[in-house]
Amino acid sequence: MLVLGIESSCDETGVALVQTRPDGATPALRAHALHTQIAMHQAYGGVVPELASRDHIRRVLPLTETVLADAGAALADIDVVAYTRGPGLAGALLVGAGIACALGAALDVPVLGVHHLEGHLLSPFLSADPPQFPFVALLVSGGHTQLMRVDGVGRYELLGETIDDAAGEAFDKSAKLMGLGYPGGPALSRLAEQGDAQAFKLPRPLLHSGDLDFSFAGLKTAVLTQAKKLGDGLDARRADLAASTQAAIVEVLVKKTLAALQRTGLQRVVVAGGVGANRLLRAQLDAACAARRVRVHYPEMHLCTDNGAMIALAAAMRLQSGRQQAVRDYGFGVLPRWPLAELEAVPA
Ligand code: ATP
Ligand code: MG
Ligand code: FE
Repeated sequence: MLVLGIESSCDETGVALVQTRPDGATPALRAHALHTQIAMHQAYGGVVPELASRDHIRRVLPLTETVLADAGAALADIDVVAYTRGPGLAGALLVGAGIACALGAALDVPVLGVHHLEGHLLSPFLSADPPQFPFVALLVSGGHTQLMRVDGVGRYELLGETIDDAAGEAFDKSAKLMGLGYPGGPALSRLAEQGDAQAFKLPRPLLHSGDLDFSFAGLKTAVLTQAKKLGDGLDARRADLAASTQAAIVEVLVKKTLAALQRTGLQRVVVAGGVGANRLLRAQLDAACAARRVRVHYPEMHLCTDNGAMIALAAAMRLQSGRQQAVRDYGFGVLPRWPLAELEAVPA
């Protein structure tokens, strides 16, 4: 079964083709293409929803032609069209959903709405070293920070989550107030490589709270306080402040993940979402887990942030189970707010 997947929940347009496999093996990625709107939103310091929607409209069909050409496939070869149904920006989601359902109707094939976070969560299955269920998942993206116990597709138990900002948001907001532009996460982590992580004492919120929740709003305020104190001196100390900020965020993420392993008794971790691309997080988690004989799995670097491959994959894994059906129902709707826990399980 050839699945076309369309992602348009925020500021990346992603399209991919994934092939299901009969033997229960992970579906295969045939081709994927991505257009990021970062340059377009940069002037505004953040995502402008209306501009995002309009750009998705321009991108989806050309990207679809690209992936079909790359895979050596034709429109008529597509068996199912999958799209991100939520969560995300309503207008942006509606573009992907609308085009997916129009394509489905035109090709007379069924469609399937996919949960964006399930896409992130399953994306490590496309890596050279795919995980096996069950595992602890650390989902760290621009909008979410969650620890989950994952027993199968759709079988997600929330263990803890952020009570305010997400980890990606903490990176981005700290970067912004240090003058590093948008989205600042990658820029902050690059700059941090030249800085001293011990230079500034920053809080590790909820580190000893005894639960698996996170909080990053206070850390951002502490970074702001330091930046203000430095004043004109910030220029000379920017790398040190970046390194100290990154160290604080990463320490909390690693320690809480270890606590989740201890609580669940599981021996496997999957990291997903944009912050999963952070090199310090990968290095510290790898070191801590190696010492405990715990395996850690990541998405390929380029599949950490939003992409169409993870959406096509999540649909393909559901369909391959034989218990999820795509339907010829083209009256699409989107769910801008959609807790992952409300997603139906696919029985093992
Ligand atoms: P959600 O999936 O929760 O709706 P999103 O789709 O915006 O949010 P992602 O695309 O998964 O989030 O990730 C984007 C986030 O990842 C941004 O906050 C970005 O700064 C952060 N990020 C990307 N690369 C890095 C990095 N190397 N270090 C730290 N943060 C990073
Ligand atoms: Mg993005
Ligand atoms: Fe995302």
